[in-house]
Amino acid sequence: MRTSLWFLPCRRSVLSAGPAPRGLDVLRHGAPHPGRPRKWVGGLASARPRSRSGRCYSRRGRAERSCRAADPGQGPGQGSRMLNVPSQSFPAPSSQQRVASGGRSKVPLKQGRSLMDWIRLTKSGKDLTGLKGRLIEVTEEELKKHNQKDDCWICIRGFVYNVTPYMEYHPGGEDELMRAAGSDGTDLFDQVHRWVNYESMLKECVVGRMAVKSAVPKVSLSGFSFLNHCTDYREEKKVLNGMLPKSQVTDTLAKEGRSSPSYDWFQTDSIVTIVIYTKQKDINLDSVIVDHQDDSFRAETLIKDYSYIIHIELSHEIEEDFSVRVVENVGKIEIVLKKKESTSWKHLGHPLENHNSLIPKKDTGLYYRKCRLISKEGVTHDTKLFCLMLPPSTHLQVPVGQHVYLKLTITGTEIVKPYTPVSDSLPSEFKEPVLLNNKYIFFLIKIYPAGLFTPELDQLQIGDFVSVSNPEGNFKISQFQELEDLFLLAAGTGFTPMVKILNFALTNIPSLRKVKLMFFNKTEDDIIWRSQLEKLAFKDKRFDVEFVLSAPTSEWNGKRGHISPALLSEFLKRSSDNSKVLICICGPTPFTEQGIRLLHDRNFSKEEIHSFTA
Ligand code: FAD
Ligand code: NAP
Repeated sequence: MRTSLWFLPCRRSVLSAGPAPRGLDVLRHGAPHPGRPRKWVGGLASARPRSRSGRCYSRRGRAERSCRAADPGQGPGQGSRMLNVPSQSFPAPSSQQRVASGGRSKVPLKQGRSLMDWIRLTKSGKDLTGLKGRLIEVTEEELKKHNQKDDCWICIRGFVYNVTPYMEYHPGGEDELMRAAGSDGTDLFDQVHRWVNYESMLKECVVGRMAVKSAVPKVSLSGFSFLNHCTDYREEKKVLNGMLPKSQVTDTLAKEGRSSPSYDWFQTDSIVTIVIYTKQKDINLDSVIVDHQDDSFRAETLIKDYSYIIHIELSHEIEEDFSVRVVENVGKIEIVLKKKESTSWKHLGHPLENHNSLIPKKDTGLYYRKCRLISKEGVTHDTKLFCLMLPPSTHLQVPVGQHVYLKLTITGTEIVKPYTPVSDSLPSEFKEPVLLNNKYIFFLIKIYPAGLFTPELDQLQIGDFVSVSNPEGNFKISQFQELEDLFLLAAGTGFTPMVKILNFALTNIPSLRKVKLMFFNKTEDDIIWRSQLEKLAFKDKRFDVEFVLSAPTSEWNGKRGHISPALLSEFLKRSSDNSKVLICICGPTPFTEQGIRLLHDRNFSKEEIHSFTA
């Protein structure tokens, strides 16, 4: 086990907005949970949970036929399923979603083992840890002992979970979970789905936390507080008066030959301006995300693969709305706050978690704000266009090709799923896409009646709230540079990243000669925005769309089947022999994986292919 693990709890689970596991609440607030009081005891765990049969979902069916990599035990898909992660391998090989009218074999979910069933079990009051409510300090040696299917503990970010009872409910299957058995699964978890809210999903499985190694100051169990570890936050709670010394900023970029970002602030009677000097040229309004929630003011600036964070408890009150400006050629960001009272501020405020630090983006954790549901409009028989409004105290623009995570509390458990924002429509002569100060975010979301998240989302009333995370994803606008041919391969809701890509490419890339979309669906009724796509193809001669159906009616005259060498060879015709080309692909994971293989077979390079995954 890596030593760095011992510090991990500081990173996200402790100080972020998300709740700590139930037992941890006990520790933080001193009051036991009403359902089942749990207390920490020293020493090793002696109690072992009773043995379980722990069978896995059957993995027969269509996924095996069409795509070997869909099997969790093989190929690039390996390691991609752990804990609550239907989405990455979505739909699961045995998923009901894989059941089509085309005579494909059907393997239903094992009865009573859906994630909803798991949530019910966690609410049943059953002892899922096998420790009758005690929370213990777990040593490395002890953790290693619990490495069997019928006795499986896993450590994530310093907390140890008994996942034995969860085995049968894990959407990715037992084998994936067993890869981390008796060990620190943090890296594996982060590689696969760091966004999954395991704290909430597994809160009834918390055994305790890893024992602190002697090199680290020991904390007493009685007055245990995870904040104790975060010395820079609590102990150095000092007044900010403009820029901190440069040495206090992690100088990662300097190591790469770039200078570190810094910040400063100044004021007039009515405003306070926080200025962030990124010292980078490719900064724009998408690069900075600002939130003012309760007492916390937080600005996260994305610089390459790092986040530069300003996180302050402001010394005085400000108005809800603020403005953000970017001076692109010097990489300067100005955040203009309106004072509630026109007094002179002696200092800006107190530093909060990660303030004035530059950290790898993957380590920042997901930051959420509550957005109001403004409208919900049917698009196909099962897909809807949702419009959410950001709070006035948030500046957030989701870059082209990126996704966010939506979070809802379902039966007391926080559930998180990724979704890709779209524009409200495709460009047309009749309707300009809604911009409205970027306060609105649109999503095209398919509702799965047997799904965990989407039926809840569908139940929301106008005015209800959904939590929306910061954007993630590795698509870069620079991939469009000098682009001549853009080919888009989308299946089902895999169309969603293509919406902004289409809009952006057709309006901003002068070199573009040809944009083609091949859109795979089951039936005509499943095609999202068909008439908009046809109108766009009619209006813009550079754009062409082809629909391919896997389960069409006999009247369908268009293309049929699945992604195949024959379909691709016809589709991928360049405008000229050496044209600069980009191919984007998105859909069910096996579709995407198969598409990538076929594209490589046709000698397209890695740089010419962008696949969208979680
Ligand atoms: P789930 O609970 O995941 O279930 C869906 C279906 O699969 C149900 O029929 C269920 O019964 C079945 N199922 C689930 N697990 C199993 C299993 N183990 N065995 C058998 N059957 C199973 N979707 C959109 O609609 N729009 C988007 O913009 C969008 N963007 C995305 C972006 C990214 C990066 C990713 C990775 C996914 C995106 N998705 C998008 C998919 C989305 O995240 C969810 O996966 C989807 O909405 C289904 O969620 P759910 O909880 O409702 O369904
Ligand atoms: P769907 O309707 O089930 O399928 C769309 C089309 O893809 C159908 O024609 C289907 O054929 C075909 N298909 C499915 N599996 C295939 C395979 N293994 N090989 C070849 N073709 C295959 O799709 P959906 O329900 O909308 O699901 C969309 C998927 O896209 C979800 O898994 C979602 O997670 C993913 N998505 C990812 C992102 C991202 O950014 N990563 C964004 C949005 C959506 P059949 O009729 O034979 O099934």
